[in-house]
Amino acid sequence: MIKFVARFLLHRIGIAIVNQYINDQLKIMSAKKVSKIAVLTSGGDSPGMNAAIRAVVRTSIYHGLQVFGVSRGYNGMIDDDIFEMYSRSVGNIIQRGGTILKTARSAQFFETEGRKIAYENLKKRGIDGIVVIGGDGSFKGAQKFSNEFDIPCIGIPGTIDKDIAGSDFTIGFDTAVNTAVEAIDKIRDTADAHDRLFVVEVMGRDAGYIALHSGIATGAENILIPETKTDMEAMIASLTEKEKRKKLVNLIVVAEGDEFGGGTEVGNYIKEKLPNADVRVCILGHIQRGGSPSCLDRLIASRMGYHAVECLINGTHNVMVGIEDNKMKYTPLDNAVKAKQKISEEWMRIVKILAS
Ligand code: ATP
Repeated sequence: MIKFVARFLLHRIGIAIVNQYINDQLKIMSAKKVSKIAVLTSGGDSPGMNAAIRAVVRTSIYHGLQVFGVSRGYNGMIDDDIFEMYSRSVGNIIQRGGTILKTARSAQFFETEGRKIAYENLKKRGIDGIVVIGGDGSFKGAQKFSNEFDIPCIGIPGTIDKDIAGSDFTIGFDTAVNTAVEAIDKIRDTADAHDRLFVVEVMGRDAGYIALHSGIATGAENILIPETKTDMEAMIASLTEKEKRKKLVNLIVVAEGDEFGGGTEVGNYIKEKLPNADVRVCILGHIQRGGSPSCLDRLIASRMGYHAVECLINGTHNVMVGIEDNKMKYTPLDNAVKAKQKISEEWMRIVKILAS
């Protein structure tokens, strides 16, 4: 009996595998053949974009595709700033921050006329697939363009904020958070030497991940982020209580987009409520966007760049390439929107306990 069931199951599994294989092959055969692709970076820059460009260029060449770079995001498509790239074009860039293609926001691309000009420029070169490395705004533009002109587009999430639905990682977040940690460690040294209370503002207009991760990693007393309700009264009460028991408090990390305000507003509020405290504010700003990408950012950028080209080839079109639970995940560009990821209760509890 057991033998019979085992044989039956193996038979069914075998059929399922063959069916899957046939479906995949049919999909590849019926997919619009892509032979020339363009790659661009759009929106805000993030460290690791170069590693993604390198992966797209070299994977394309490996598959015998011709590959073009576009300068300054969608502006380059409109201004015809498009050039062929070779394996050597992306040599010695994996370790560099910024983007060799430059990036921009393009007002003209919002207009039908601008997108039409962009299409004509691609068409005259026979470009029939696009990889866009950027944020959700860039993906919206790509989706619109693809709908209008039937050119498949693939998105790669490149933003330091880690706030895009459909991926546990975005290129640049890990580097940005490590830069913040390094800077905050230095601030802590001087804060400690003078018994000062520092309010450090980190980037994150809508997302508090840089603040949360860098705050935990540097032992911040309080971490203020847009995802959770900021209770300033409770924070002042806690600072007062700690002062009474002579606990040295010297670090509060705030995301620029916290609903109470950024570092300056938080610093002013503390000064007003605790006039005896020696409070300083430090805004880290754009250093968080620059610098050599971390190992993790180089890895995810390489993996996503590789899979973006595979998607164009095998017909998985108009998706954002993401990674979830260490597996590739393909999210339709329409759904790859800015998403406030839920901050786990566990993290918030850890912050509270460790800062006591
Ligand atoms: P970041 O996360 O750094 O803000 P982003 O990709 O979200 O990056 P945006 O400024 O929102 O940055 O978008 C980049 C560009 O994408 C815009 O300047 C514009 O050219 C194009 N774009 C965005 N939304 C649309 C849209 N709805 N239609 C056409 N183009 C768009």
